[in-house]
Amino acid sequence: MLLGIAKSGFRIMCAAVLMSASVVAVGQNTGTDVPPVIDVHVHAMDDVPGIGPMCPNTSKFIASDPRTKEAPFGWVQEECTPKLYPAAKGEYIKDVLAEMERLNVTAVVFGDPKSVQKWIEAAPKRVIPGTSFLGMQPGSRVPLDELRKDFAQDGFKVMGEIGLQYEGISPSDPSVDKYFALAEELDIPVAIHMGTGGSGRANITTPKFRGSMGDPLLLEELLARHPKLRVQVMHAGYPMIDNMLTLLQANSHVYVDVAGLIWSYPLKEVNRYIERLVDAGFEDRVMFGTDQLIWPGLMAYSISIIQNADYLTPEQKRDILYNNAARFLRLDTAM
Ligand SMILES: [Zn+2]
Repeated sequence: MLLGIAKSGFRIMCAAVLMSASVVAVGQNTGTDVPPVIDVHVHAMDDVPGIGPMCPNTSKFIASDPRTKEAPFGWVQEECTPKLYPAAKGEYIKDVLAEMERLNVTAVVFGDPKSVQKWIEAAPKRVIPGTSFLGMQPGSRVPLDELRKDFAQDGFKVMGEIGLQYEGISPSDPSVDKYFALAEELDIPVAIHMGTGGSGRANITTPKFRGSMGDPLLLEELLARHPKLRVQVMHAGYPMIDNMLTLLQANSHVYVDVAGLIWSYPLKEVNRYIERLVDAGFEDRVMFGTDQLIWPGLMAYSISIIQNADYLTPEQKRDILYNNAARFLRLDTAM
């Protein structure tokens, strides 16, 4: 979700909330009898040096003055329990996969094919591979035949994360239509970043980012051009709930994920947003995701928010944590 941190030229599309951060137990069961979870939004990260602990669900954004030296992130610095800590050097992938094993999580892991391959090799049964047409350098594109090979021959299952919003480009922009045409032709679902960019300093850290390019209704033209396309609206178009609901009503192939937003905005607001999606009748199109990157404990923490949601029935929790994604991804079984 949010901002891009530059890391050797690789843009991280999603959250890197450098807020203030053992992950102690956060209410998760352990063991093999844990009901399965699908996390539809994980990044094929490795170690990211220099990033500290993080407090999830920070309570507010703070104002800043352009006359001063402004912090790149606009969340208030605050203390919390538990903080989420980065992995020790060289341990990130191992730690996240251990968490996935403990929590019985299968994850859609997005990244360039080489990075994703590392995750598949480490945990072939727990990783569903995803890659997109956004190249390694900002603004660059992967050649169409290369992408076709990724999906038609090399086993990639989801096209994402498509972070056009960070380039200030609409998902319906004609310049990227051929990629969506390919996804429709190959019957590959697409996962598009829509909405959050909420570092509070988007104008400073990612000058091409446009909040307006995350409007869920910008997907309408794309969906009209490609009526069979299956779309995962990443971050559920937060905070544009009315437009998100309008799109969900108009298009039954559209699902949302709650990744990133689930741990990076004030908790009351997060719950209100998810509740609104469910109350509006879309409980079978909300998918769980973390936007996992940097802090291995983020997955357990994020699952606990769904598990502790008092406005969801046990069945709705299972739908969000597993069944909806299993249907969207056409996995064999629902539980
Ligand atoms: Zn994103």
